[in-house]
Amino acid sequence: MFEIRSLGRGPGRMKTLHRTVDVTNRIGLDLIAIEPGAEVELDLKFQSVSEGVLVTGTATAPTKGECVRCLEPFDGTAEFEFLELFAYPNSTTEATTEEGEVYHVEDDHIDLEPLVVDTAGLEFPLQPVCRPDCPGLCTECGALLAIVGLDHSHEILDPRWAGLAAKLNPPDGEGTADQL
Ligand SMILES: [Zn+2]
Ligand SMILES: [Zn+2]
Repeated sequence: MFEIRSLGRGPGRMKTLHRTVDVTNRIGLDLIAIEPGAEVELDLKFQSVSEGVLVTGTATAPTKGECVRCLEPFDGTAEFEFLELFAYPNSTTEATTEEGEVYHVEDDHIDLEPLVVDTAGLEFPLQPVCRPDCPGLCTECGALLAIVGLDHSHEILDPRWAGLAAKLNPPDGEGTADQL
């Protein structure tokens, strides 16, 4: 919550805010979020316009995610850019928009949390990856391809040939020549 009474209602009035706030509730999606206890760095500008207060600027916060390809946890940074009007009570904007369509100035206060929550919901990826080129898991055995290497593969044997293959490549590693 930010008190904006001191901003005044004259269009053109402006106030900047640099503040770090602690997150109390998890903000994000199932697989990626800003966790409780994380710090969100706000760098915002509040601008008085006729209909309300225009909030512009950025919020930066550390994120924790789970990669959809390799299923490993990973850390990241979220950077959101805002350009949002918080409408004054009884303004035309307030009167002509549906409930929930626009943010509101309430009792000369602006609550930024819903803005951060909504923005996170829109901007966080539904399918987060630990890195863009994460090779994921082997579909056969589930090994992490980033660790076992991209040339990792399994010989797929036709069962009819499996017996012969076993003879040619005995599992104990002995040579084959003198056994045939
Ligand atoms: Zn990954
Ligand atoms: Zn494998």
